[in-house]
Amino acid sequence: MTDTPAAARRTPDRPLVVLENVNKHFGELHVLKDINLTVHEGEVVVVIGPSGSGKSTLCRTINRLETFESGRIAINGTELPHEGKELARLRADVGMVFQSFNLFAHKTILENVTLGPMKVRGMKPAAAKEHAMELLTRVGVEHQASKYPAQLSGGQQQRVAIARSLAMEPTVMLFDEPTSALDPEMINEVLDVMTELARSGMTMVVVTHEMGFARKAADRVVFMSDGAIVEENTPEEFFTNAQSARAKDFLGKIL
Ligand code: ADP
Ligand code: MG
Repeated sequence: MTDTPAAARRTPDRPLVVLENVNKHFGELHVLKDINLTVHEGEVVVVIGPSGSGKSTLCRTINRLETFESGRIAINGTELPHEGKELARLRADVGMVFQSFNLFAHKTILENVTLGPMKVRGMKPAAAKEHAMELLTRVGVEHQASKYPAQLSGGQQQRVAIARSLAMEPTVMLFDEPTSALDPEMINEVLDVMTELARSGMTMVVVTHEMGFARKAADRVVFMSDGAIVEENTPEEFFTNAQSARAKDFLGKIL
């Protein structure tokens, strides 16, 4: 594990996730308003904002779990198609970890991690298993490999969910409040895995209210309010010197 400063890891000329003027509605509700966001290779972007501001919708739209009406989203230089095989392939490039761990309840931990690579990437079982065991070791749950999700703690399950995403060798990882369903004593074990991932150079978009993580791991903080990106800055600047009234108000409530 290296302690390369965040900014040094970034490759400014390699934008991996690009959103241009993305707009989305849920009926009358304008839930994403002209979103412009570029995430470069190796960059860690933390998205914060009040409940209902559109953070989850932003993640789901990047992964095309949601449609959008206008604008453009490109992953690694390729614009997301609307459907079909190409979409499945591109979606596999974008790992996603949710608040609820979403493991397959009737599969073992090992099977949870090997399934995707075998089905989507066409990996042979032996190779998939070897890779899965490496990843389970990386997140510290290798001894749970033959158990079922319900036999693990929430923190362990979330670490398995991270390993399962990594098994697909994604280009970028999206995390949507990955620790907010966890008991307090389990939050750090998951944040530690995410911090290690960030330091290893993974490109990450993380929705979280964990300000310690944001300060430690983020290159950039994006503040959302009412469906719009209101402010973007380095964590230092954002937490000590927020510009907008809405960000100041939000920080006043959570810090
Ligand atoms: P956040 O993650 O920041 O709390 P969300 O992206 O979950 O915000 O939600 C943004 C807004 O969109 C909220 O007002 C929410 O009620 C609304 N919303 C989210 N999902 C749907 C949906 N499937 N249908 C209609 N409205 C939705
Ligand atoms: Mg949300």
